[in-house]
Amino acid sequence: MGSLLLIFDVLTDAPDAQALAGVTFAAQLQQFATVNALYICHSYQASGAWLRMGADAALIYNADAPLCAHQMEAVITAAVAATGADWIAACSPGTLQDAIARAAAVMSMPLIRDVCGVAVGNAGELTVERRIYSGEFIATLQVPPRCAFTIHPPAFSQSVETQLTANITELSVAVPSSRVTVERPAQSADKRPALSQAKVVVAGGNPLKDAATFESLIGTLADCLGGAAGATRAAVDAGVASAELQIGQTGSRIAPQLYIAAGVSGSIQHMAGIRDAQTIIAINTDAQAPIFKHADFGICADLYRILPELIAKLK
Ligand SMILES: Cc1cc2nc3c(=O)[nH]c(=O)nc-3n(C[C@H](O)[C@H](O)[C@H](O)COP(=O)(O)OP(=O)(O)OC[C@H]3O[C@@H](n4cnc5c(N)ncnc54)[C@H](O)[C@@H]3O)c2cc1C
Repeated sequence: MGSLLLIFDVLTDAPDAQALAGVTFAAQLQQFATVNALYICHSYQASGAWLRMGADAALIYNADAPLCAHQMEAVITAAVAATGADWIAACSPGTLQDAIARAAAVMSMPLIRDVCGVAVGNAGELTVERRIYSGEFIATLQVPPRCAFTIHPPAFSQSVETQLTANITELSVAVPSSRVTVERPAQSADKRPALSQAKVVVAGGNPLKDAATFESLIGTLADCLGGAAGATRAAVDAGVASAELQIGQTGSRIAPQLYIAAGVSGSIQHMAGIRDAQTIIAINTDAQAPIFKHADFGICADLYRILPELIAKLK
């Protein structure tokens, strides 16, 4: 039996979808590994639900300031030395994703990114699945004796029963200095849910002519549905929507129950970000637009007519 270390960057007061996905991933490895947890904390404490993650033992590292990737790397390698972990998994977004790659390289562990499935092979060997070529194919990889993972959260969204971790130790590590000071932006006043967590996402594309139009149509419809606003790269490049709203291969990957795409062509790069959306509604003037091949419901019409009507009905 191996040993798995789940690594959390504690960025919120309660575990987010990515952290919970890590726990579900670990539950599927139960017959192969004991599970320990590492919590890297700065602004928030690893307390309450954070410790109810079903780990056998937990290490907590309290940082004086938010860490850079190379500092987090030092914390991870120290935690691996302390726990003897064979497998490590990054269960938070942001800097931790870079840090685990650095730590894996330093410890000569292969890194398997965006794991979306776990299975047992015919000979009882452990395998994981990950999407390749923008999600067009699924690769099945045999897990080596030592390995690092990042998790694709929508693939592990079912909740599992977990227990309170009893054995908690503070980890003390001298992290290297950094010439970079990390400042986390203050919580946005935006009341909309984060794109990656939203149950409804309304996205706008190139035909939205400016930021005010984007906000009055896409933003307002998102608000009517309690959802998040998103955009294509074309809309972001045109300065119509801000970069953090970009969905796709080089933007956010989302998994809403409902995705409404208005004036979105459905390019392969955009679709790579919405593969986990459950129901897709497309509004596009071009009946041949690729988005209609993926949509559950299509409205072949002008978004400048449809969106105001929808908003008026919902209001
Ligand atoms: C390496 C790489 C990475 C990329 N990563 C991303 C990414 O992460 N995300 C992303 O989105 N793109 C990405 N792109 C860009 C991608 O290839 C497309 O250019 C982009 O998605 C197109 O955006 P769009 O659909 O808004 O614009 P367009 O291609 O211009 O399509 C606009 C659509 O709106 C329709 N339309 C026009 N007027 C109206 C109207 N009044 N009402 C309704 N419909 C209307 C048109 O019929 C058309 O289908 C990437 C490209 C590259 C090369």
